[in-house]
Amino acid sequence: MIIVMEPKTPDEVINKLRERLLDLGCEIHESQGVNYRIFGLIGNTSSVDADRLRALDGVEKVIRVQEPYKIANRLFHPEDTIVQIGNKKIGGDHFAVIAGPCSVESEDQIISIAEDVQKAGAGFLRGGAFKPRSSPYSFQGLRENGLELLKLAREKTGLPIVSELMSLEHLELFIENVDVIQIGARNMQNFELLKEVGKTCKPIILKRGLSATIEELLLAAEYILAQGNDQVILCERGIRTFEKYTRNTLDLSSVPVIKKLSHLPVIVDPSHAGGIWWLVEPMAKAAMVVGADGVMVEVHNDPANAKCDGQQSIKPERFSSMMESLRELAKIQKKII
Ligand code: PEP
Ligand code: MN
Repeated sequence: MIIVMEPKTPDEVINKLRERLLDLGCEIHESQGVNYRIFGLIGNTSSVDADRLRALDGVEKVIRVQEPYKIANRLFHPEDTIVQIGNKKIGGDHFAVIAGPCSVESEDQIISIAEDVQKAGAGFLRGGAFKPRSSPYSFQGLRENGLELLKLAREKTGLPIVSELMSLEHLELFIENVDVIQIGARNMQNFELLKEVGKTCKPIILKRGLSATIEELLLAAEYILAQGNDQVILCERGIRTFEKYTRNTLDLSSVPVIKKLSHLPVIVDPSHAGGIWWLVEPMAKAAMVVGADGVMVEVHNDPANAKCDGQQSIKPERFSSMMESLRELAKIQKKII
């Protein structure tokens, strides 16, 4: 249930209402915008009498929220959430470009790619250190060493680093070393992991599960938000369908749908969605046009010999020309890139 207060309601009235809600045994989440103040009642509110609340001083309206996700709901927070990472922003007018290899493979590889994507205008460096591979015999990542190499690349380029956390046992390591924690598609419904990252204040990129509905994605985000971490960025990365030509089917319509339902920023990963390098640029441009808040793309200096996902990785030169196209589009879309 959501209680929208009249603009300029005096503090005494707000405080009185807060006490009353707490007396009713409700868990409340407050949200303060430029022109509004909202109380969100979380949990089972079936016994709360909405009409009695409507009659109280300062209350403009009371809305019963039908959707099962509450804090992620745009009703709860009408303005776009903007996630701040150092001096960079994701959401609102800010379009983020996160680029880098699928996996960190060596010092030379990650430094060279990081320098190239930084020169071309990327805002963040991605790189997997712990890799969720379908086969246990495939390259599993450089693990702790991979994070060390990412830190070196950050030192050289100033780019904040994004890397995937797969297991709770590495949470502290990630808190200490990375700027943004990625929760991959395969762990979107690892609820224990979601709860624990929810207790941190690290920005989280939450990728849509392979066969997850939009509602399931928003409920997964709700797990993080409910623990107090509101720095959540959603990522559309394609879903499984009957189509076999592409690795997954990029559900571009999920972007405007999620933006209607939620205030959280949404980025698109065209690399894992299409699974083919030449689809990355057109799908990245499409992502910007449908209103995404950024893209995450795989870039490799030697895709033919990449240890992971070479077929969907673009070379630095192509990344650079893609950035030029995105900058042109950003002028029309009124986005800061
Ligand atoms: C990745 O970004 O490296 C990755 C494994 O993606 P996903 O979880 O979307 O498959
Ligand atoms: Mn990959």
